[in-house]
Amino acid sequence: MKGIFSAYISIVLLILSGCGQKMKNDTTVEGLLYTDDSPVSIEIADGKIQKINKIKGLTAESKRIYVAPGLIDNQVNGFAGVSFSFSGGDLTIEGLEKATKALWEVGVTTYLPTLTTNSHEILLRNFEILAEGMKNPGLHGSIAGFHLEGPYISPEDGYRGAHPLRYVRKPDWEEFMELYEASGKNIIQVTLAPDMEGAMEMITRLHEMGIVVALGHHNAPAEVITEAINKGARIATHLGNGCANMIHRHNNPLWSQLSDDRLMISIICDGFHLNPEEIRVFYKVKGPGKTIITSDVTHFAGLPAGEYTTPKGDTIELTPEGMIRYPAQNVLYGSASPITKGVGHIMQVTGCSLKQAIRMASTNVALLYGLQDRGKIKSGMKADLILFTVEDFKIKIAKTIVEGEVVYKTGD
Ligand SMILES: [Zn+2]
Repeated sequence: MKGIFSAYISIVLLILSGCGQKMKNDTTVEGLLYTDDSPVSIEIADGKIQKINKIKGLTAESKRIYVAPGLIDNQVNGFAGVSFSFSGGDLTIEGLEKATKALWEVGVTTYLPTLTTNSHEILLRNFEILAEGMKNPGLHGSIAGFHLEGPYISPEDGYRGAHPLRYVRKPDWEEFMELYEASGKNIIQVTLAPDMEGAMEMITRLHEMGIVVALGHHNAPAEVITEAINKGARIATHLGNGCANMIHRHNNPLWSQLSDDRLMISIICDGFHLNPEEIRVFYKVKGPGKTIITSDVTHFAGLPAGEYTTPKGDTIELTPEGMIRYPAQNVLYGSASPITKGVGHIMQVTGCSLKQAIRMASTNVALLYGLQDRGKIKSGMKADLILFTVEDFKIKIAKTIVEGEVVYKTGD
């Protein structure tokens, strides 16, 4: 009885201390609203945005500081030395926390850990770890779900990118459901090749389950892409990449994915994956409402330049400019730049406004996955905010707030 009583007291104390912490989080931030440069103060309480007040001016300290919703990245393979796809049992719950905190520092407040083509056992195990890790209350709900990229992609060199051929396979619904269960039903996007045998059935079923179907790493002809979109495919994953270097000028997967207005696109805007002209054309065709800035960032992000051996045994080269090359196939091996860089880069190459760039790096992503509590600055929304400066098209994060709590501040 005594045991139960003291347990009861501890729970009460825990709740009270929790409330105390929430009270401390009540705060107000000031900045220039990213949509129209107007000075605002934003009241935050209980982890949510309460009120947005227009104010006359900002204090000297926050004079050139913008405020925007936290960035949302739908393709994160790892970060800060932590890989989500490691085969050697390196992924841990602590590692997930480390990666999440490092992402906060660059302004990413929500993301989808992404597992790429691998053996069934490794995918199963890593999804189990991710599912356990995302429950960590210390992450403040920053993990919205997971992205499975592969293994149901094209085996063709070039289209396959850096995905290991030995693990590429045909869509297998039974296998997918095992992975889905292991993920705690948290897989919210699957990138697959629609030209693989059995892909159409899988697209139909995924779509029925409310999972976002993305087309990627494929060499599908126009009619197959149209059929995939008819069956519910919604987005092309990193358009212009996961594609062979030499393609047919008329019959290639780019035109048909660009020409169908129903399909959104994600693009890697790190300055290496696409030429400025490609980004410009993609943006002109799809517009800011149907474009998403993604990173495809790997765990090499933030490491010193040099040659590295990947967990899969491939040799890659990280250049001083932050490019990751995979010399064996003369393709890029993911990216080392978070979407924060993409926000500035897309403004620079397309001339789009900060408002549109943030829309593509936050609002659109939230809408795609039905994350109704984030991606905008509105009362009642989760208080995931970034404060930053923009200089020479470079976004410099000054402060990151997640669920009302300041998790990063310049100089920390
Ligand atoms: Zn890819």
